[in-house]
Amino acid sequence: MIRVTIWNENVHERTQEHVKAIYPGGIHKCIGEFLAADDIALRYATLDMPGQGLSEEILQNTDVLIWWGHMHHDEVTDENAAMVVRHVQEGMGFVALHSAHHSKPFRWLMGTSCNLRWRHGDRERIWCASPWHPIAKGLPEQFELPREEMYGEAFDIPRPDDVVFLGWFAGGEAFRSGLTFTRGAGKIFYFQPGHEEYPVYKDENVRKIIRNAVRWVHQGREARCPMPVIMGEKLEP
Ligand code: ZN
Repeated sequence: MIRVTIWNENVHERTQEHVKAIYPGGIHKCIGEFLAADDIALRYATLDMPGQGLSEEILQNTDVLIWWGHMHHDEVTDENAAMVVRHVQEGMGFVALHSAHHSKPFRWLMGTSCNLRWRHGDRERIWCASPWHPIAKGLPEQFELPREEMYGEAFDIPRPDDVVFLGWFAGGEAFRSGLTFTRGAGKIFYFQPGHEEYPVYKDENVRKIIRNAVRWVHQGREARCPMPVIMGEKLEP
């Protein structure tokens, strides 16, 4: 069983009518619906829940954490962000979606600003740059999203393990759209598509990529490895 926790800021879907119309139950529920499988146990967590939807017990019982956030990154407490980082370092899989590039856990895991170029809606073509990668399994060599927010290079991240997808935008920009990283025992996938104003998570190719990513970052309970204690203190960002 793969225990997946989907963490969502869940603010746009409650406060903006046009976003609510696309994701009436929230982006987290939409993702949960297409992830559902016999061997996947889902848990939802949102910013407005007690403890911001996070606790030591929840993360200990999470094999893969999916993260979507945008306008309220700063409200996530340092304690919660550090807890997520530690669990990733100890082997929990982490899938950061779209504007989660600026979330505290992702920035702390990267150690860079994670700044990028951006612009409102454009047509995006996603190219599969590593067709042999398990996250690209079953995907065509390229597909298009008719509307997506443009994210462009330069993207201030450390060197990724693999560039699985590249995004090209009709305005001419290019972006490393699907990236893998390793931090400690943990596997990380960052995936750029998913702006809340467009029905990106209803696209079948996007769904397939996220389903593949969950299975790729998942390593199972036995792979969890407590971080080494150095000079009597745990490593924290
Ligand atoms: Zn966006």
